[in-house]
Amino acid sequence: MPGSRSDIDVLVSEVGPRDGLQSVARVMPTEVKNRWIAALAAAGVREIEVGSFVSPKLLPQMADTDQVVREAVKIDGLTVLALAPNLRGAERGIAAGVHKLNFPVSASREHSLSNIRMTPEQAIEQVRKACELCAGLPPDSRPSVEVGISTAFGCSIEGSVSEDWVMKMAQDLVDAGVTSVGFSDTAGCANPVQVKRMFTRLQREIGSRSGAAHFHNTRGQGLANVVAALETGVNTFDASQAGLGGCPYAPGATGNIVTEDLVFLLEAMGLRTGIDLERLIAARAILLEGLPGESLYGHLPNAGLPKGFAYASARRVR
Ligand code: ZN
Repeated sequence: MPGSRSDIDVLVSEVGPRDGLQSVARVMPTEVKNRWIAALAAAGVREIEVGSFVSPKLLPQMADTDQVVREAVKIDGLTVLALAPNLRGAERGIAAGVHKLNFPVSASREHSLSNIRMTPEQAIEQVRKACELCAGLPPDSRPSVEVGISTAFGCSIEGSVSEDWVMKMAQDLVDAGVTSVGFSDTAGCANPVQVKRMFTRLQREIGSRSGAAHFHNTRGQGLANVVAALETGVNTFDASQAGLGGCPYAPGATGNIVTEDLVFLLEAMGLRTGIDLERLIAARAILLEGLPGESLYGHLPNAGLPKGFAYASARRVR
């Protein structure tokens, strides 16, 4: 599997082609998706969640995920991730040659039932079966299984979610065999104090299996939450180009944290991402070509790089 991290400090995992596109009603043509993913990888993005193996009846935007995965795995050095809501999705992912499978497991019972029609316990059982399936594969075709527990910081349906319950789920997922467990702020309601407390506890309880942070910028707290998570040692962050995608419960809200702004934040703080910001910003043109007129978010693309800006790697060499 690709994915050496020796020359970067933080892994930026682009989720726009999955989390972003599934929140937009229009369907991006497959050929444009492939070019967009290639342009993101050429800008230095090391990991991309390229789609979701859900039923095309539920999400027609994701109907071409098999084809998109088959194309993306040809890109040298790119780790290709896809979401699988159940065992059947995992089988499709394995057949397409995906490097990592991401399972949606929600801490909120209401959210879980409305999103995947399973209780959290049933979702963990699907993950256990997928881990067993993967463990039986030869090493060169065996995807790793990751979970970002969604609604970990609160839910737009249930409100607050018990932290003890979230930590119990994380332990159950480790016992089920996952490679890593992280937290997702699906509803965009997390704050930095909470982020710091929960990731610190996660690392204490599951150690090296502690995984990525996935923040939405619904209420503008996304990058503040990133800094809080960095302080606990989190080194993988999901983000979406142009903050693509929103929240069906909050009209006008932005989606994930903006990849361009995240990369700028990290590089400015002296943390190497391996990503070239000019080339990253240029990839927005392909996104717009696939979704003409779509709202694009982000401060850095509007303001440009500050005068005298130097990448973290350039500063280290001197
Ligand atoms: Zn998300």
